[in-house]
Amino acid sequence: MQLTHLLEKLKLDHLEARLDTLCEQAAAAELDYKSFLETALQTEWQGRYQRGIEARLRQSRFPWVKTLDQFDFDFQPSLDRRQLRELAGLGFLERSHNIIILGPPGVGKTHLAVALGIKAVEAGYSSLFLTLETLMTRLVKARHENRLEKALQQLVYPRLLIIDEIGYLPLSREEASLFFRLIVRRYERASLIVTSNKSFLDWGEIFNDQILATAILDRLLHHATTLNIKGESYRLKEKRRAGLFGRARPTPTFTSDEAQATPLPGEDEDALS
Ligand code: ADP
Ligand code: MG
Repeated sequence: MQLTHLLEKLKLDHLEARLDTLCEQAAAAELDYKSFLETALQTEWQGRYQRGIEARLRQSRFPWVKTLDQFDFDFQPSLDRRQLRELAGLGFLERSHNIIILGPPGVGKTHLAVALGIKAVEAGYSSLFLTLETLMTRLVKARHENRLEKALQQLVYPRLLIIDEIGYLPLSREEASLFFRLIVRRYERASLIVTSNKSFLDWGEIFNDQILATAILDRLLHHATTLNIKGESYRLKEKRRAGLFGRARPTPTFTSDEAQATPLPGEDEDALS
């Protein structure tokens, strides 16, 4: 059988694509047989690894790609960079623990959730990013079409599920009970990262039911790290620098009241972006 045919049969696509170059380089470097074989297999492995990352990135549906390196920790002193570095080691995923990121709009909750999601994808884990609103639309639709079981199953499958923006919209009773069922399914089986602009005290309001909210928090927080970001909006940083808002407000401490405080100009759109 011809070499190209063999490469096709064995599905060594990446090696096939780079074969001529690799042979030329091997000849120039006078590689021995073993070293050449190693380089060839390494090329195939690297190509497959990269393709795997790209496929998992697409499946994850991240709103954008943002990494931890792009996060300015100096701007957010309430965050412990060592703790973030530790979380980026992904031990939490191996132990099926959760991460809860709290804070007012614009402080980088989604950025950090996505950055940890990308770390997970690079390490070979499956991941899925949903806003709470998209999640609820999906589950309510599935229930009305009599395929809730399958929809829940699909949401248990990713090793990391990111649920963004808990708290912007209150849930109906039906939605809250669907959310609870999802949390129960994933509990101690697979990790969640959730972000919220509301402190836990206000979750009763979000879920329209104090008892349900307590049951949800009980499972969510049993094995969890909570990051409480007490800073100001990064989105407003540039505008402030340009003098649009004059002097910066003193850095607020994030409480439930803070989340409901009258937004600064421009902050209201931020909340919905
Ligand atoms: P939140 O989800 O808390 O409302 P985002 O994560 O959407 O905030 O952040 C708003 C924008 O500001 C994003 O473009 C994000 O990348 C950026 N951002 C926020 N905090 C930081 C930071 N500390 N360093 C760099 N970029 C940041
Ligand atoms: Mg966000």
